[in-house]
Amino acid sequence: PTMAHSEALLVLENFIGGKFVPCSSYIDSYNPSTGDVYCRVPDSGKEEVEAAVKAAKDAFPIWSSKSPLERSQILNKLADLIEHDLEAFAQAESKDQGKTITFARMVDIPRAVHNFRFFASSILHHVTECTEMPTMGCVHYTSRAPVGVAGLISPWNLPLYLLTWKIAPAIACGNTVVAKPSEMTSVTAWMMCQLLEKAGVPPGVVNVVFGTGAKAGEALVCHPDVPLISFTGSTLTAQRITEKSAPHCKRLSLELGGKNPAIIFDDADLSQCIPTTVRSSFANQGEICLCTSRIFVQRGIYNEFLKRFVEEAKKWKTGNPSDPTINVGALISKEHLEKVRNYVKKAQAEGARVLCGEGVDPLTLPPGNQKGYFMLPTVIAEVKDESCCMQEEIFGPVTCVVAFDTEEEVIKRANGVKYGLAAAVWSGNVGRVHRVAHKLQSGLVWTNCWLVRDLNLPFGGMKASGIGREGAKDSYEFFTEVKTITIKH
Ligand code: NAD
Repeated sequence: PTMAHSEALLVLENFIGGKFVPCSSYIDSYNPSTGDVYCRVPDSGKEEVEAAVKAAKDAFPIWSSKSPLERSQILNKLADLIEHDLEAFAQAESKDQGKTITFARMVDIPRAVHNFRFFASSILHHVTECTEMPTMGCVHYTSRAPVGVAGLISPWNLPLYLLTWKIAPAIACGNTVVAKPSEMTSVTAWMMCQLLEKAGVPPGVVNVVFGTGAKAGEALVCHPDVPLISFTGSTLTAQRITEKSAPHCKRLSLELGGKNPAIIFDDADLSQCIPTTVRSSFANQGEICLCTSRIFVQRGIYNEFLKRFVEEAKKWKTGNPSDPTINVGALISKEHLEKVRNYVKKAQAEGARVLCGEGVDPLTLPPGNQKGYFMLPTVIAEVKDESCCMQEEIFGPVTCVVAFDTEEEVIKRANGVKYGLAAAVWSGNVGRVHRVAHKLQSGLVWTNCWLVRDLNLPFGGMKASGIGREGAKDSYEFFTEVKTITIKH
């Protein structure tokens, strides 16, 4: 890949104890839509993590003793500042990640703003428990306190969105944090650091160290003064984090991958189901942990569904992410694009039919994007359940469509993967919708919709999709230590 000669390289710095500090070595970061290196990210290691943890430890006594109301006001101020710069953040996220500017404007940055507002509000409304024991003359109550320095590790697919989903509850509860964003998408986290002082976040409350998982991430996971780690990323990395943190018995929250089914019964409203399922398959280039990648369609409507689904998928335009009419931007990296393409090749080799997209339709790109990591939305049919395309997380714009006959059969097949994050059920029969939802092994079940979230309620997966939940109450419980106090009168 060549350097972008027309503009100066953007050089990021770590944010430690309220100050930007340069690093001794850097990693190149690519613009996925051009293939050019455009940014340099600190290649932090033990030393930088050590300094950040120290700053966070020093800031803890003051921050944790502030009232929830004081912290809430600061979070709201930060939300306002990010919102004020929404367009600049959206442009940066799109350039850094490859996602469309439209998605960054409509989803990523508004949600980052909302994360701070949501926890600024919810922190004011928690009530702890109390019980009475009159025969013993006792009253018991619980009290919750922040834990200390929280280690936060986030992935590249929804960079600021997922990072703030951790920072906001952690600091709202009175913890201080050391965050490590993905080395591939660090820019918006760095931009957020520029607003912290103005928002009134005291130095050391939020520290960000940039770098790779193997170096910076692992140093954070292994640091003895970081008692809790909140991680969003792949199942493989989660296993490594679990192993590395085990000697310290750390508290872990793990939000991992998925292989999410959509189950479409013959009484589904296809006019709603088809556009939503195209969106759930291809939004953000299919790089959302909640994206649909196995579509089970009841046999009676299978042919009609497939025809209409492919027609709708073909309407999605792939190209320059900064063009607001584009639906599919670039994938995160060259390596990831190759990995996703290989799944399509494997499916073909196994005898599956590729109905549109990769290898079937021509992909034309503007001159400036010829070296970008683009791929058309791809629909595969007649894939066997045991195929790697039906078992493994692909995390790209690829979805598989297969037929089923009965409710009992489809539940078994939908559950027949190692993951259990999110499922969608499409049917007009309310009894069936409840029955199926209860039997699916999935942390989230959407019926006749997709990705409609109330942040109050638990978010997270079962099986290999994770441990723990995030949400108003769940994040509060994760980021605080509970104590039961008994008073005899
Ligand atoms: P990843 O696991 O490769 O990386 C995630 C983060 O962990 C990055 O910051 C990375 O640098 C860091 N990391 C890597 N190795 C590490 C180590 N040994 N120690 C500590 N940190 C380490 O995941 P990714 O490729 O960035 O993201 C894609 C994955 O994230 C997909 O599997 C996707 O499903 C999952 N995801 C899950 C959710 C969810 O909420 N369940 C949300 C978004 C993404």
